[in-house]
Amino acid sequence: MRIEAEHINYTYNPGTEFAVQALKDISLTIEEGEFFGVVGHTGSGKSTFIQHLNGLILQPSAQKKYRPKKPKKGAPVPPPSVLKVGGFDLLNKKTDFRALRSKVGMVFQYPEVQLFAETVFDDVAFGLKNFAKEPLKPEAIEEAVRSALETVGLDYAEVKDKSPFDLSGGQKRRVAIAGVIVTRPEVLVLDEPAAGLDPLGKKELMALLHRLHADWCKTVVFVSHDMDEVAENCSRVAVFADGQIKYVLTPRALFSKFDELDALGLELPAAAKIARLLHEEGIDIESDFTPDDFAEKAAAYLSARLGQTEKTEKGEGGEA
Ligand code: ADP
Ligand code: MG
Repeated sequence: MRIEAEHINYTYNPGTEFAVQALKDISLTIEEGEFFGVVGHTGSGKSTFIQHLNGLILQPSAQKKYRPKKPKKGAPVPPPSVLKVGGFDLLNKKTDFRALRSKVGMVFQYPEVQLFAETVFDDVAFGLKNFAKEPLKPEAIEEAVRSALETVGLDYAEVKDKSPFDLSGGQKRRVAIAGVIVTRPEVLVLDEPAAGLDPLGKKELMALLHRLHADWCKTVVFVSHDMDEVAENCSRVAVFADGQIKYVLTPRALFSKFDELDALGLELPAAAKIARLLHEEGIDIESDFTPDDFAEKAAAYLSARLGQTEKTEKGEGGEA
């Protein structure tokens, strides 16, 4: 399912003194198959945007009470908005949003705070029963819950009857994610899924997302504030700032924009920080800013330089 947004605006508490325009003319297309990153400052509109993707936040025209207004004479006509996920038109209140939600899974920030059931099994099964069109057989539920828990790296027999509240923080997060992937959504949207995890937990979480992506989840969209995570994992990245999208680029192209990212107050991945220092010394090393690729390119650069020095010093070639 392709995600397509054009000229999307969103205001919280419209028409009141608390009105906040969180999205300002957002246009973005995410192709099926992408592993897509969303970055930007706190308050830049990331969560508001991604919560549109499964209809958790509805545009006014998609709300039940919506009645189209007659355009005022002489007023400028705004450009037409589009918000589609696959065949679902998210601007139309007749859209089957429940069907949409079974295809677009949403993992909130700190999803573990929403665990509620008495057992891990019941928590994970809840999402499944909730979306099923007709009652599922107990064996089918058990199989899906087992598969979801195993996918997130938990031992089914060990955790299924436990209270979610007796698990560690990292395990709770996995249970919460299992409760979303249990329906095998085609699109998985995650709001800072690795926030608060230790470095190993973050790596495992990204590995899990890649595994889902390789196995059956066609498109992954995730918010992150960790630029190394973004450089290492994403096909493309959208940069939000003040309710707008400033860039949509590959990590390689984005993180070469040292000064532009500075101006937005965004960090660089570690490799890009080094690349920037070297650039200021007149040394340009092209890489995709992942540690491995950067180290390889830097080593190649150094050995080429050393080879040259050795040649001039000893009159022979250095090691390649
Ligand atoms: P981000 O996820 O990038 O931190 P958000 O989408 O959460 O940004 O917020 C965008 C803007 O909308 C901010 O100014 C924020 O204060 C405001 N906002 C977010 N949620 C609400 C809400 N429920 N009610 C009112 N304003 C909100
Ligand atoms: Mg947010």
